[in-house]
Amino acid sequence: MILVLLPAVFVLAWFSLRYAWWRPAVSYHYPRILMYHMIAPPRRGARFNGLRVAPGMFARQLRWLSQQGWHSYTVSELVAQAGRLPEKSFAITFDDGYADNLLQALPLLKKYHCKATLYLVVDRFDRDWSVRRKAHHDEGELKKEAKLSDAQVEEMLASGCIELGSHGMTHANFAALDEAAVRRELVESRRVLQERFGVAVDSFAFPFGLYRPEQVELVRSAGYRSAVTTREALEDPARWEPLELPRIKISGKDRWLAFLLRMRGGRRGW
Ligand SMILES: [Zn+2]
Repeated sequence: MILVLLPAVFVLAWFSLRYAWWRPAVSYHYPRILMYHMIAPPRRGARFNGLRVAPGMFARQLRWLSQQGWHSYTVSELVAQAGRLPEKSFAITFDDGYADNLLQALPLLKKYHCKATLYLVVDRFDRDWSVRRKAHHDEGELKKEAKLSDAQVEEMLASGCIELGSHGMTHANFAALDEAAVRRELVESRRVLQERFGVAVDSFAFPFGLYRPEQVELVRSAGYRSAVTTREALEDPARWEPLELPRIKISGKDRWLAFLLRMRGGRRGW
């Protein structure tokens, strides 16, 4: 008998540790800010498949959000309306500027009446920014990935459901830059994007989610009203620090249950 039960106990324990299913839902008054990169199928043997959410999975997530009564906002809308948001508010964000954001994601966003904030790198072509974080990530995987052309960005903005935000000039690692360089990344990228696309750029996404505390003030003085990080948390919008907003990572490696748990508690498991 014990021999039959033991594997079942192990499976249950593994499942529980992995998904922490018993954790209660975090208040639905706390908005969920979701972080995506690519909407693309995984590639065999690729390092960054966590950044690739399959189109079918993305469609399923949007369908679920609309069926469950979630309300879609851009990040700037969330911040401007913090304090009077309905329950189940969320924002979709796309970092970097991959071409599939237009080709795969936009049709689905339209279908499910969802908005999104696109955090675009200005100099995004032929750049391998993954090495700025870890020098051995030099396979050029993200460099080879097709990026949005300026014309494609315009097409996204013309849809009326996309907010343009800045992800810096070069996807630099802020933790390794001096103040003048950080200021340049912040001010220049905002100026170029606003001039090139004729829209307000009021939100920023820290590249890699890396920054030093004193740099938050530089984001403010560059004119941004909000900034998103990669800190995974759900917080009361009445107490938000709008220049250090937490996000929930939606990983291409997650199964459906993991997505539901992230929406519920901000985390997949532990
Ligand atoms: Zn990025």
